[in-house]
Amino acid sequence: MRDLAADAELKFFSLNTGSVRAHGDFLTILEAARRHGISIVSPWREQVAAVGLDRAARALRDGGFTLSGYCRAGLFPTDAAHRDEVRDDNHRAVDEAATLAAPCLVVVVGGLPQFARPGSTPSKDIAGSRAEVRDGLAELLEYAAGVGVKLAIEPLHPMTAAERSCLNTLRQALDLCDALDPDRSKGLGLTVDVYHIWWDFEVHEQIRRIGRHRLHAFHISDWLAPTVDLLAGRGMMGDGVIEIAKLRAAVEAEGFVGACEVEVLSAEWAKRPIDEFLATAIARYRTVC
Ligand code: ZN
Repeated sequence: MRDLAADAELKFFSLNTGSVRAHGDFLTILEAARRHGISIVSPWREQVAAVGLDRAARALRDGGFTLSGYCRAGLFPTDAAHRDEVRDDNHRAVDEAATLAAPCLVVVVGGLPQFARPGSTPSKDIAGSRAEVRDGLAELLEYAAGVGVKLAIEPLHPMTAAERSCLNTLRQALDLCDALDPDRSKGLGLTVDVYHIWWDFEVHEQIRRIGRHRLHAFHISDWLAPTVDLLAGRGMMGDGVIEIAKLRAAVEAEGFVGACEVEVLSAEWAKRPIDEFLATAIARYRTVC
């Protein structure tokens, strides 16, 4: 297991820029990251779009940054009237990931159609959503493999099943990988986010099943008890109940050598200065992760 306390250069630390989206635009965030010695980031599409893809790509290059991922594609469930639009939007996400040289594109699959793609005909058919996810992902995988971008599907906590993701466990995600990319030739893999999977009684068994080649990204934050905000209620590492180091040991035992991506989506941290957030995240990375 890597010794993060000794990682003076933050070689394995990544900032998911969604964590500090309230603190300024993408360029401001990169400047703040540099002040703290951070050289790996994982941007969100809307942050990149707000400053322009070319400008974002140049700022990353000029600042010497590399990416640990790009967030995100997916949100497949919709109705027939919007299906082409969803497909095209996802193809654009793949193209952007390629332009930014992202090692993977995170995929959050979506829940019910009216939440995944507002304006779609409402439905309560969650099994139907899962079928749409499988079809949409199969199509996107062909496109992404053609462009050379790896997809990293991220199972989300079941509390998000209606609004964000009807894919909720590592087992479900791995079953999709086995079905859609059985010989692993298309690069379909997973994002393991401790916030979403820590509670799962099968978590260690399923991490062993992922193995080295299907583990594309590792996200860290903490689960606060009680959790009062379903979307922006995440805790800083060390402030909650997740055995982060144990989960990191498990993925590293499978050969994971990528960055630990700090993704603390928190309304509370959004109120505090970005430098305090980054300094705290780095300190916790070295001491509790
Ligand atoms: Zn995540």
